[in-house]
Amino acid sequence: MTTQKPDYDAIVIGAGFAGLALIHYLRDAGLSVRVFDKASDVGGTWTWNRYPGAMTDSESYYYCLTFSKELLQEWSWTRRYPDWKETHNYFRFVADRCDMWPHIQLNTEIVSAQYQQDSAHWLVTTGDGDTFTCKYFISGMGMISEPVIPKIKGMDTFKGPLFHSARWPQEGLDYAGKRVGIIGAGATTVQMLPVMAQTAESVTVFHRTPNFILPAMQRPMTPEWEKEIKEHYDEIIAKCRNHMFGMAFDTAEGRKAVETSPEERQRIFEEKWTGSFRWVFETFEDLLSNPEANRMASQFIIDKMKERIEDPEIAEILVPKIEDYPLFAKRPPLDHGYLEAYSRDNVHLVDIKDREPIVEITETGVRTTENHYEFDIIVLATGFSAYTGALEAFPIRGVSGQTLAEKWQEQSKSIMGVCVADFPNMFIVTGPQAPFANLPTSIEQNVIWITNCIKKMESEGYDVVKPRQDAEDEWTAHTAEIHSQTLMAEGDKVHSWMMGANLETKAPRVLIYFGGANVYYDRMDESANQGYPELEFEKLAS
Ligand code: NAP
Repeated sequence: MTTQKPDYDAIVIGAGFAGLALIHYLRDAGLSVRVFDKASDVGGTWTWNRYPGAMTDSESYYYCLTFSKELLQEWSWTRRYPDWKETHNYFRFVADRCDMWPHIQLNTEIVSAQYQQDSAHWLVTTGDGDTFTCKYFISGMGMISEPVIPKIKGMDTFKGPLFHSARWPQEGLDYAGKRVGIIGAGATTVQMLPVMAQTAESVTVFHRTPNFILPAMQRPMTPEWEKEIKEHYDEIIAKCRNHMFGMAFDTAEGRKAVETSPEERQRIFEEKWTGSFRWVFETFEDLLSNPEANRMASQFIIDKMKERIEDPEIAEILVPKIEDYPLFAKRPPLDHGYLEAYSRDNVHLVDIKDREPIVEITETGVRTTENHYEFDIIVLATGFSAYTGALEAFPIRGVSGQTLAEKWQEQSKSIMGVCVADFPNMFIVTGPQAPFANLPTSIEQNVIWITNCIKKMESEGYDVVKPRQDAEDEWTAHTAEIHSQTLMAEGDKVHSWMMGANLETKAPRVLIYFGGANVYYDRMDESANQGYPELEFEKLAS
């Protein structure tokens, strides 16, 4: 062994919510922290996703970090869902107010991370070849950050700009008066289309699987609403902590759709049709667990979607059929005028599933089996390799020398999404087999667990924390068991990223703990209270 001190106690990759939360909590615990990010600014996903219309789908006032009551009171949101610029300003505000910049190194890509058994330190290498050591290596790279670039013939021949929606040119892109093609029609396109269509000459969407689209119903933050929020922040934080998706939602008060009369059910569905994902959770408590209730909710959404689409042929392509898949087996997008945008003369929809699949991209556009469409710009809004993609994009090597990508070929195993067997002294914020939830809530819960585990290490003089293989096996089996009982398990038939079923390179798998974020947070608290039974703590022989 070596007694050399590492360069930092903790190295974190990613300067989004996780990176900033880790700086706060670890610094408070007396540790030295360095956060690296390849982006040119703080903000994580909000640095990369600058496409027109990009905004949060969680409501602003609980899509934020909660460690400082002062910050919660000082910051003012301007509307229900802030756009990427406002969210980005919020990140800079947090970094400024909490004096975090000295801990952050931007424009620095990490290209490898390797555990070193003799020292129990991690060796981290940057794209410039600089190396740094640390005792704790932590990923804050985010669960939806690694873009999926489809393999379409001729993609490199297109003469104009062609890029993934999450790699929007940082300097902006002048699409006014241009012909734009968008491949993909998930949450990103649902936000992007209505904004682009206002100034582009034309926008053509290449569409495969229909989505259940819920209305966002944007509204400004009034002084009265802000006052009410700021007077009740403790309750809002507690609501998030105790909600199955980490959201500050009310409950459905024990109501079940299947036990409610059709008239009353319709009345409740209508009354609560006020925007956001609230509708799914505040109407009836059985929509995501009972197939019949799920069909009732799906039919209501289908009817609402049809009301807003003028052209029945467009509706035929955009609106899911009840038998296609259950609501939430694919993550529903929130809509700010997407469906109405198809009534514009300059917006076109191409059904590439049943009518005219894409054959190739040419120098000037996209060729389908039926037509050639000419474009100045092509946007690939084709989604992400969720939960594991960022962790597999460069070699992260544990004790055995195996990388995470190699370990996760068949199954993406972890302990509660935060630790991985064979990777000591490493933590992941919201890794595979963590819940899918309002991310700042989950991130902060993970960071508190990680910080307390590190505090134990430091106060009790440990050098190594080893995730136990049997604990990883147990969590993986538990997560799979729950997954198999949910309607989300049907996501594999519609390429849901929530199961990695959108990847051509890998078989679908269980990526998400669907037992409820609140249940998961309880489990994390229990783990901490019991002294982290999933982990083995060791001292190196001196
Ligand atoms: P997505 O939901 O995975 O949608 C990708 C789209 O690309 C789908 O329509 C997919 O069709 C299509 N596609 C993929 N590969 C293709 C190919 N080879 N050829 C043709 N079409 C292809 O991705 P996303 O819209 O970027 O959203 C991903 C997630 O990011 C969201 O669900 C959400 O969690 C998050 N997000 C959040 C926000 C927010 O909160 N504000 C905004 C945007 C995104 P199929 O469906 O047929 O596979």
